[in-house]
Amino acid sequence: MFVGPVSKKLIAVVAGVLIAGGPTLLFNYWLDDLILEQTREDIDSTTRRSITMAENHMITAMNGLDELTKRGVDSCTPDNIEAMRRANLDYSGVAEFSIVDPNGRTLCSDLGVALRHRIVLSTEGVVDSSILLDVMVVDDKAGRMLRLRRPGATNSIAALIPGDLLITKVSSQGGLLLNAHGRVATSDGTVVATVGPVSEFGDPFDTMVVSTLSSHRFGLTVTMTRPLSVLTRGQEEIRFLGNTVMGVFAAALFAIAFLVPWRQRNNPVTELERALKAGEFVPFYQPVVNITTGQLIGCEVLMRWRKSDGTILPPASFIPLAESSGLIMEMTRSLMRKVTHELGPVCQARPNLRVGFNLAAEHFGSNSIVEDVRKIFEHSPVRLSQVMLEVTERQPLDNLGQARRVVSALQDLGVKIAIDDIGAGHSGLSYILKLGVDIIKIDKMFVDALGTDSSSTAIIETLVDLARNMDIEIIAEGVETFEQVIALREHGIQAVQGYVFAPPLPGPSFLRLLEATEHQPKGESDQPDDAHSGFGFGYLSSRRRASAA
Ligand code: C2E
Ligand code: CA
Ligand code: CA
Repeated sequence: MFVGPVSKKLIAVVAGVLIAGGPTLLFNYWLDDLILEQTREDIDSTTRRSITMAENHMITAMNGLDELTKRGVDSCTPDNIEAMRRANLDYSGVAEFSIVDPNGRTLCSDLGVALRHRIVLSTEGVVDSSILLDVMVVDDKAGRMLRLRRPGATNSIAALIPGDLLITKVSSQGGLLLNAHGRVATSDGTVVATVGPVSEFGDPFDTMVVSTLSSHRFGLTVTMTRPLSVLTRGQEEIRFLGNTVMGVFAAALFAIAFLVPWRQRNNPVTELERALKAGEFVPFYQPVVNITTGQLIGCEVLMRWRKSDGTILPPASFIPLAESSGLIMEMTRSLMRKVTHELGPVCQARPNLRVGFNLAAEHFGSNSIVEDVRKIFEHSPVRLSQVMLEVTERQPLDNLGQARRVVSALQDLGVKIAIDDIGAGHSGLSYILKLGVDIIKIDKMFVDALGTDSSSTAIIETLVDLARNMDIEIIAEGVETFEQVIALREHGIQAVQGYVFAPPLPGPSFLRLLEATEHQPKGESDQPDDAHSGFGFGYLSSRRRASAA
């Protein structure tokens, strides 16, 4: 399935969201869990503290009751009132000692008279049956209180504990206001006191953390409730820090998710791959001309990168990367296929037309090129016998033995092998001979020096002699002037390529040129009668050279 650039970007973004969002969600989940655990521990400890506080106050009050009972305080005599007043000072936490009748009515208090009438909301015994105690919830205008008294049918002594003292007002964090709602109630459910904010507890979506603990002895129950959204300062800091860290993490992942496709777009090799897929590498054709007949006898295929905006890049700007990245193999195959289509008809009609392709050193490292060439040309209108493959002397071949085998396998297919840029490399003549090539291409450097530099001239003469003796053809490259054409012809060279005739041309221009140069006078053959080979790339015999000069 083809995935376009837009959907690729979309996939990258979705992946980015998942990659960044996954850990963020997990982290938040973990943080919520941590906060829940902390909240639970926090209010559990507050509840424990409250119940201990309540029990301690009740024990204190019971001790006071015991002491006063021991002293025989059971009525409102001045001595008894004085005893109760002193007990009030000794037993802190008890708001009032008083004498009450069996119905709970206060007859007198440690202040002398009963100041207020108190409503009794509930009366019950304590859970622990060994403790003889009535626990009453009473209410007066100051608030609810717990009244403890020894049970009995007669008037008895009682102690009042303000409800406020039965429940803590500080959080277990110490000093902080309790950020939970607390409630203390007797075992029948009568509420003695409440504490903490109630107003913030209205959010129905909030998770309530509830902690309940009962005093086994006195039957009091403390319940603490805290919404999960109410955080302690420490939790707020953790959450802030966590969110900051996750925010940075997510931002970094998002950036990566966006940057990766951007980087890939800017990666030159990826860009080459894309261009290859998009068919942006196209063949240009530079004509090869027989300078004794003026006939166009072939061409060299030179790759160009035609970008979508119409710009055309020369091979120097992309071939080195194509070679180092290995993409050159596929690029060469693609180029060859394009040529079989573009030149197919003209090649079919002109069996002597020769088409040269440039190969890289990599092509000689394995046999794959042999298969490639066979597959591409075997049944194509461009025959294997019309194909010339050029191996440059500029880059030395790593394994000469292997290269030799590739060369001969290619020759077995019927293609010709040329050595390119002769003289520009450092391989030496023996190397060329060992490779067993069919054609040598003389580098522009020697063509330029021809006539002005005697050693270059000597080298060309040596090459021509060598070629003649070894049955090798010659092409001169980079020929720019008519003087060079004449000089080359004087040296017996026939096949010439250069700006003097034409630069590398786009396909349609080359095809038109080919057609335009075809109207030669009847009777003149394609090739000079004593040309060395059937392609007109040869050299002239010394006899012809003499007459040409
Ligand atoms: P090359 O194989 O030596 O190709 C000849 C180069 O000389 C071409 O350059 C051509 O345009 C240029 N040239 C031709 N006549 C003249 C002239 O009269 N004067 C001057 N100054 N230059 C002339 P181009 O097309 O830029 O190619 C450069 C090199 O890139 C080629 O050198 C070849 O080594 C490489 N190349 C081109 N196409 C391919 C390819 O398909 N595969 C591989 N592996 N290499 C390629
Ligand atoms: Ca070449
Ligand atoms: Ca060359």
